[in-house]
Amino acid sequence: THSYEQADPAVWQAIHQEEARQQHNIELIASENIVSPGVRAAQGSVLTNKYSEGYPGHRYYGGNEYIDVTEQLAIDRAKALFGAEAANVQPHSGSQANMAAYRALLKDGDTVLAMDLAAGGHLSHGAPISFSGQEYHFEHYGVDAHGWLDYDAISAEAQAVRPRLIVAGASAYSRIIDFARFRAIADSVGALLMVDMAHIAGLVAGGVHPNPVPYADVVTTTTHKTLRGPRGGLILCKQQYLKAINKALFPGIQGGPLDHVIAAKAVALGEAQQPAFKEYAQQVVRNMQAMNRGLVAGDSQLQLVSGGSDNHLVLVDVRPYGLTGREVQNLLDGAMITTNSNQLPDETNGPFKTSGIRLGTAAITTRGFTEDECYQVGQLIVQAIAGRDDPRVLATVKRTVRALTDAHPVDSTIVE
Ligand code: PLP
Repeated sequence: THSYEQADPAVWQAIHQEEARQQHNIELIASENIVSPGVRAAQGSVLTNKYSEGYPGHRYYGGNEYIDVTEQLAIDRAKALFGAEAANVQPHSGSQANMAAYRALLKDGDTVLAMDLAAGGHLSHGAPISFSGQEYHFEHYGVDAHGWLDYDAISAEAQAVRPRLIVAGASAYSRIIDFARFRAIADSVGALLMVDMAHIAGLVAGGVHPNPVPYADVVTTTTHKTLRGPRGGLILCKQQYLKAINKALFPGIQGGPLDHVIAAKAVALGEAQQPAFKEYAQQVVRNMQAMNRGLVAGDSQLQLVSGGSDNHLVLVDVRPYGLTGREVQNLLDGAMITTNSNQLPDETNGPFKTSGIRLGTAAITTRGFTEDECYQVGQLIVQAIAGRDDPRVLATVKRTVRALTDAHPVDSTIVE
């Protein structure tokens, strides 16, 4: 044990328990991943000690010569990776990236057309309980009866509401998004186009999902989902918007940047530029498709929204078992399989109980799961649900989960 662990056993006990949880659970939350030791080391570095309000070459405090280097590396790598004209790497989170983008592009009360939360959109896309829904006038599009985006319907809605901005991107949509089509719809009504690629940024970087950057005025993302970096946000934009975005973020809504996190973003972006990351992204998609086959095999009654997925996630309708999404989430927790209950596009149980679960393969692919194992995970989920009243079934599922996680350990070394 390190001296700091002895000095504060209360915190470190919980940290080590969380390490063990991550080691022994199959992590299927679609917005999570497992970062490299290099990303964690940068985030745990002395860069956290620094104040550096401003941007590289233009800081309000002294001593920023090395901070400028790490932030410029993050900017340059983000631009190169996604082919963007300009980047801001300072957002503390995806929500703050979105807030800065809205503030740079909109006036209070402007109309924005975005995906509905219940259909798979994000809170920061205009939910009434979010700043976004409170400061701007959001109208929403959904998905069709089969769970697919209906571009003709979105186009008709854009004609009807005449938005200043259209937002594409989602938290729970399992299909490829057609950014060229969104651009055409935006152009047809004279709207700007923003893409929030938070969930799929790593797939875009790895070349397995079309890149929104050529089509959008502004692209926002988190850095911690499929992109596999530290928790944080990132904004890519056309050069003409950079000044407004930089100002909207700092001093508009943030103070000093998290320099240690920005260095970790630079490390993660560097990793995403390597050939191995392309293989990772391809494996994430192959693994999702294998898990989907496992989820519906045999006498499974589970239904996949839209019939499956093209990306790293899937939404599963659990209603045929007479259960809520929340009940299934809790049941799977008991079998050491971590998921989140999720609303379905035609939800009738409300946002807490829900009728579905959302599953993703970004994290288990990082730890080395391949197709056979992902098929098996799909089957384990079916077995746990179908055998929920039989403790022997649950015990068997748990044993198999332990064997799978033991075969693919998570690297959780603490780097000093
Ligand atoms: N945008 C989308 C599409 C998301 O899925 C998320 C997070 O789940 C966010 C934005 C917000 O990111 P954060 O939790 O970092 O604020």
